[in-house]
Amino acid sequence: MQIDPAAHLLKEADYIPSPNMDDRPEGADINLLVIHSISLPPGEFGGNSIEQLFTNSLPVDDHPYFQQIHQLEVSAHVLIKRDGSVIQFVPFNKRAWHAGESCYHGNERCNDFSIGIELEGTDTDPFENSQYETLVELVKALCKHYPSITAQRIAGHSDIAPGRKADPGSGFDWDKLSSLLA
Ligand SMILES: [Zn+2]
Repeated sequence: MQIDPAAHLLKEADYIPSPNMDDRPEGADINLLVIHSISLPPGEFGGNSIEQLFTNSLPVDDHPYFQQIHQLEVSAHVLIKRDGSVIQFVPFNKRAWHAGESCYHGNERCNDFSIGIELEGTDTDPFENSQYETLVELVKALCKHYPSITAQRIAGHSDIAPGRKADPGSGFDWDKLSSLLA
């Protein structure tokens, strides 16, 4: 997997630009990966509702849950779907809106210095092998491109927003990720 250094986009990903992003603070060092899980409607896989959420185009009337979330204005840099395919929504040098109120090792506002990776999934179900395979290639590419990101600086959303967020959840196998990266 390769990152286009001028566009700050994955060459292998479909790019669907999200309006839910802005500039990082001046001089921000990108040094953290944040792993999330998401499924829309909750517990259902497939479809393009996540893409619609991140582009503020969720069809409000299609599901009761959409009425609660359609105005959220959120995004992530990258989504890895159940089949391992990748969609990018925000160039890596820009600030995606994925972490919310958060803190990592004493540093607040993690969106400023992190890259957000969403895995299509729930807080309890296992993820697909194809998703781990893509994630590992993505992490390797990001570590190479952004030297301040290391295998030790990968956190779950639940780690940086404890009590408020539970994703990626018990179905995410951190040991498996570590061994695949080793
Ligand atoms: Zn999350």
